[in-house]
Amino acid sequence: MEACLIVTYRCNAKCYMCNTWQHPSNWHEEFSPELVDKLPEGLSFINITGGEPFLRADIGEIVARALPKTKRLVISSNGYFTDRTIRIFERFGNKIGIRVSIEGLPAANDELRGIKDGFDHGLRTLTTLHGMGIADIGFGMTVSNRNAGDLIELYRLANAMGLEFATATTHNSFYFHTTANRYDDSEAVARAFERVAVELLKTGRPKNWFRAYFNMGLARKARGQKRALPCEVGTDMFFVDPAGNVLPCNGSDEPMIMGNLHEQEFADIWQGPGAEAIRRRVAGCPKQCWMIGSAAPAMRKRIAVPARWVLKNKLRLLLNKKKPHCLDPIGE
Ligand code: SF4
Repeated sequence: MEACLIVTYRCNAKCYMCNTWQHPSNWHEEFSPELVDKLPEGLSFINITGGEPFLRADIGEIVARALPKTKRLVISSNGYFTDRTIRIFERFGNKIGIRVSIEGLPAANDELRGIKDGFDHGLRTLTTLHGMGIADIGFGMTVSNRNAGDLIELYRLANAMGLEFATATTHNSFYFHTTANRYDDSEAVARAFERVAVELLKTGRPKNWFRAYFNMGLARKARGQKRALPCEVGTDMFFVDPAGNVLPCNGSDEPMIMGNLHEQEFADIWQGPGAEAIRRRVAGCPKQCWMIGSAAPAMRKRIAVPARWVLKNKLRLLLNKKKPHCLDPIGE
């Protein structure tokens, strides 16, 4: 099982696709590091996100308490607070990872994220961590028609720097406080994801081949098609919001609250009737999100489905090296 801890709704950026910064949490109402002790043991992955997690002065304590609960821990950040980030990595080293959100090349990034010199700060954070020998680091890019043209360039930049490259696309939900994300040219966005999928599939890393499948799922999302695999959040993964609420996801129009860790133990929430009722809502949910938090567990659970697609399309690339490549759609 995986978890995503939203440690704050405070943010120093003003991203075009997310209005969370206009609805910050009060720092004194955000859950304390001690609440992390209530998470279940044996998680396969914890993502710490926000808002901007490094705005929390006690982020180190949150990480320290979350680490024993999980095999892997990655922080999502806009990368602005280089010094604070470095201090955390000096303390935890390669026990943790980071994805820095970069929405495009410098001018586009700073405009889309509403943060002066954001690209410079993000890049400095990443290069410093790289220099420290931190392995699990990379870019995260949220793609829409406003920055789809930069996608392949950023992928190549990440590659040249030896960094991971995570992609996402815009969603509308309570978490983002918006219903206004639209694609003016959904086909251009979908094709940008497909192009990256081809590049990922050409590499020699199996991890990248499955990322290619994930990017094909993003292309489906951009085209308004159904998810390629069923969504089982609330079973495979959960979120904790800054108030301590346990939720299945951050993609719904209204928060689907299973319970609150200030009032209940995790097991009582997870096995309680409220959680069951929410799992039934998830089973009938029409939203068709395709975010890594809900897609990765679904891909792992039905690994044969992406594996078959990878095998078929990888072989095709190997056999037709000189032709322009067109991958099979997924989820057909
Ligand atoms: S599709 Fe899944 S992740 Fe999206 S809102 Fe529905 S239940 Fe949540």
